[in-house]
Amino acid sequence: MIEMQEVYKTYPNGVRAINGINVKINQGEFAYIVGPSGAGKSTFIKMMYREEKPTSGNIIVNGTNLAKVKNSKVPVFRRNIGVVFQDFKLLPKLTVYENVAFALEVIEEHPEKIKERVMEVLDLVKLKHKMRSLPDELSGGEQQRVSIARSIVNKPKVVIADEPTGNLDPETSWEIMDIFEEINKAGTTVLMATHNREIVNTIRKRVIAVENGKIVRDEVRGEYGYEG
Ligand code: ADP
Ligand code: ADP
Repeated sequence: MIEMQEVYKTYPNGVRAINGINVKINQGEFAYIVGPSGAGKSTFIKMMYREEKPTSGNIIVNGTNLAKVKNSKVPVFRRNIGVVFQDFKLLPKLTVYENVAFALEVIEEHPEKIKERVMEVLDLVKLKHKMRSLPDELSGGEQQRVSIARSIVNKPKVVIADEPTGNLDPETSWEIMDIFEEINKAGTTVLMATHNREIVNTIRKRVIAVENGKIVRDEVRGEYGYEG
């Protein structure tokens, strides 16, 4: 479960990005975060994986209050959360296999277990045949599939994605959405900031609209609600 209580965030330069957010997202939900540019979507998402700290208020993710968690405990907390970015953020000198295995090697999982789990998630994203490739030998869609495999390799309860289809063509974007739906069907909470009107209006899920750092709309099977 994810809960935000009276969350405010002001950046050091004085910009108030989040202006009093209260929200609950249950385990297993799929929610889109929508809103105009500069609305506070990225800040909202970054606070969920403790990339940014709230200025005040509580953020409880899997029972941990992120407003209180010590910096030294952040890596431990992040093991239970998968993050997917618009620009993939793969390690360029590591192969597909190594990029995905990395998170398990860090926690010193048994080598046999690592191999089994990495092959399982590469199978899910249909990239087993590319396991020896380097990221720059892959298309954008393939790179995003690697990054999704990496995000779920630890079996996190929550996967957070910031504009995961932002750099992809429409057809590839639909393939990426299929994978997120599959992950969600397996019981993982999915939280996705997106500008993709077509996707939000077709794959109907909860829609949380943010404007000026506030939630202005929260609908169970919502629409994108903005032009373009
Ligand atoms: P630091 O204190 O380490 O410089 P900042 O919070 O100032 O960190 O910036 C973090 C990132 O956000 C940097 O990449 C910076 O360029 C970017 N950034 C800074 N100000 C803004 C802004 N007003 N809007 C969007 N991004 C910004
Ligand atoms: P969105 O993702 O909806 O475009 P953001 O959360 O990136 O919105 O930005 C919300 C507001 O906070 C904007 O005014 C932006 O310029 C500002 N902002 C974002 N990141 C930073 C930062 N690191 N430092 C200062 N201001 C920031």
